[in-house]
Order: sequence, then C-alpha cells, then structure tokens
Amino acid sequence: ANFNSLSLSRPVLKGLATLGYTKPSPIQSATIPVALSGKDIIAGAVTGSGKTAAFMIPVIERLLFKSAKIAATRVIVLTPTRELAIQISDVGKKIGKFINGITFGLAVGGLNLRQQEQELKARPDIVIATPGRFIDHIRNSASFNVDSVEILVIDEADRMLEEGFQEELNEIMQLLPNKRQTLLFSATMNSKIKQLVSLSLRKPVRIMI
Ligand code: AMP
Repeated sequence: ANFNSLSLSRPVLKGLATLGYTKPSPIQSATIPVALSGKDIIAGAVTGSGKTAAFMIPVIERLLFKSAKIAATRVIVLTPTRELAIQISDVGKKIGKFINGITFGLAVGGLNLRQQEQELKARPDIVIATPGRFIDHIRNSASFNVDSVEILVIDEADRMLEEGFQEELNEIMQLLPNKRQTLLFSATMNSKIKQLVSLSLRKPVRIMI
C-alpha cells in the first residue's frame, strides 16, 4: 500500500513526498482512516513506529477539510518533553508545507514565557505543548482561548503519567471542550492509562500494532 490509497489531499501527499515517506508504516495505515472518520483512538505505538506522522497526517488533513475563517487554535498535541514537542512541530511543518496559512505554536517549558504568550495570542492552528507549561498558559493567560479546540492528541501518555503529570492531564481534560476528537498514543497500557482513557476518550477505537 502507499499513501495514495489513504485518500489524502494533494498538498499533504506532496508534503509526505518532501519528507521522503513513500509508504505508510503499519501504525499509520491503521490509524489514519479511523482518525479521518472523526473517531477517538487509543493506539499502542512505540517511538520509531512512525507514530508522529500517524497523528499529524490526519490532524492536518482535517484542518484542511474544514478551514476556519478566523484564526483559532483547533488542535492541541500534548507530549512529555520540549525536545519531542519541537520534533513534532518540525514533522508537522513539513507535512503542512504546501498548505497555505497553516500555523504552529509551541507551549513548552524552557522557552521564554512572554514570547510564547505572544505566539499563542495569534492563535496558531496547532499548538504542541508539554502539560506543565500548557496549564500555566491556560490558567494565567486570558489571551489563550481553548474553546475552539476540536482535536486533542495525547502523545506518549504512559511517559507523561510516569513523570507525574496525572493531575495536570486531568485538569487539561476538564478545560478543553467536551465535544472534541481525542487521539491517545502510549507504548504501554496499565491501570493509570485506563483511567485516563475513561476520563478523556469517547468510545475509542483500539489500535494495537
Ligand atoms: P516516530 O515513531 O514518529 O518517532 O518516527 C520514527 C522515524 O520514522 C522518524 O525518523 C520518521 O521520520 C520515520 N518515518 C515515519 N513515517 C515514515 C514513513 N511512512 N516512511 C518512512 N519513514 C518514516
């Protein structure tokens, strides 16, 4: 199979070609059609499986499909570290390279808070965040509105829980709109993950590769 059989748009296919991706990895083949249909997903996927593109491809495709007239943050990606956030942002920018006007923002620790606030005020389409800094922004900055969020991606859920972000994640789930699509990725599944899943996902499709 190649990416052409996943009914992706031309600009996204061009972006994938730029990245040198010719055929989808197993997790991408399994995840992309389900994510495009709007369903929630819980996916067991380790680093190296191609999980980043497995969520960024459908997310970008869905943004294209329903383009907003006014600037609004429509996707939040939560990931454990700043390094991962930057990597995800880089992959997203490459996939979205041929889409006019698609914007990305970071909300991660270790970068200047004020500068980030200015960036978020412009309401980038996709915000990639670490849980602690994201909470700081939504608690303290009236300028960062999350009411327009349509899709939440939880990347490396097990690692975020291991690092003690359970309360932050719970708070974020409560602050984001209820009516949204949630895509959760985790290398391992345990009782804490199951708790997070029951709190944050609605009738998820389980994808275990
Ligand atoms: P990830 O699991 O998202 O960290 O991706 C692991 C590596 O696989 C990264 O170097 C990606 O650039 C690469 N990759 C992801 N999807 C594909 C694909 N469909 N074809 C070729 N390489 C890929």
